[in-house]
Amino acid sequence: MDKKSPQTELIHHGYVPPDGFAAFPAPIHHASTVLFKNVAAMRSRNWQDKSAYTYGLHGTPTTFTLEARLASIEHGEHCLLAPSGLAAIAMINLALLKSGGDMLIPDNVYNPSRELGNWLAKDYGISTRFYDPMIGEGIRDLIQSNTRLIWTEAPGSVSMEVPDIPAICRAARERGVPVALDNTWSAGIAFDGFEHGVDISMQALTKYQSGGSDVLMGAVITQNTELHRRIELAHMRLGMGVGADDAYLVLRNLPTLNLRFQAHDVAARTVSAWLKTRPEIAKVLHPAFPDCPGHEFWKRDFTGAGGLFSVIFNEAYNEEQTDRFIDSLQLFKIGFSWGGAHSLCVPYRMQGMRTRWTEKGQLVRFNIGLEDPMDLIADIEQALAVLRI
Ligand SMILES: *Cc1c(COP(=O)(O)O)cnc(C)c1O
Repeated sequence: MDKKSPQTELIHHGYVPPDGFAAFPAPIHHASTVLFKNVAAMRSRNWQDKSAYTYGLHGTPTTFTLEARLASIEHGEHCLLAPSGLAAIAMINLALLKSGGDMLIPDNVYNPSRELGNWLAKDYGISTRFYDPMIGEGIRDLIQSNTRLIWTEAPGSVSMEVPDIPAICRAARERGVPVALDNTWSAGIAFDGFEHGVDISMQALTKYQSGGSDVLMGAVITQNTELHRRIELAHMRLGMGVGADDAYLVLRNLPTLNLRFQAHDVAARTVSAWLKTRPEIAKVLHPAFPDCPGHEFWKRDFTGAGGLFSVIFNEAYNEEQTDRFIDSLQLFKIGFSWGGAHSLCVPYRMQGMRTRWTEKGQLVRFNIGLEDPMDLIADIEQALAVLRI
């Protein structure tokens, strides 16, 4: 029985408990100091290849177990943990860029990543350019001799356009430029980044992998060992440690990752389909609908969708009215970090977050949690009533 379904793999994984203490959970190891059995062992220590433990920052049995399991979900070889999703993004940037280098970022990128790119451009001598996420193979014309990294995100944050990742990766590969993917939306479950050509898959474990709205953590997954070593050097130089208890919380929730993801997906499609029928809503931005930019790539490359989507209100409603709508929601709470059991709703001012934004209506993002979708629809329906007052 070699090939198991992803759901079974999440439960029956490679963790081997210590002799004489067989149990399902991996233990939580707290350590800064790691002891060597003699000076020779200390002098010959290797922090890079996981053949031994050397220092708390460089890994413990708990973090190595989590890294191995995250890598296996995405069919990667290597994984590095970072203290947040944004820290994982920063670690990739600092590992692969140097002053004089150039980086391409999609215009619909997670906004703090845009902010970081602009900072590296302003103070660190890196050229950061933002490209149209729907550019596909056309990215070939943007690649310069000093381009060191191309970021992708699928779908893009908030406005939800789905890029043609294989086309971008083909063009990048011709020029030998690594492609990093922010794969947080799919949790590494609904989109296989490596199969579609990316070199680096980055996850904000803060979202679905944690699932509890209680952990901040990020991961960088690779198949290529040389690339992994470069990012690992940045991991070491920057001191990117994660807490043992937090690592355990993520490990604890991984067996239910796929089931939770599917429940978020089904509920989000139910709620978004209902929203599509409402006169107050001009557009539903969800990759599973044919009018979402890049829907055809989602259909071709993805096996599902998450709980996150956005809507654009009819332009008859101003910001004050849509804010009142959000304030009137009872089950939906107002907050940013999605992927937990609770439904959330956030308004976005898109000007400034995009090079060009032409939609006139207000944009509101929904995160569909694990509540009964019929209750969520009823909640939205009563809140929409305030728009008529
Ligand atoms: C939340 C998020 C991040 C950052 O994760 P943090 O752990 O909050 O830093 C990065 N990318 C995407 C797409 C996200 O949604």
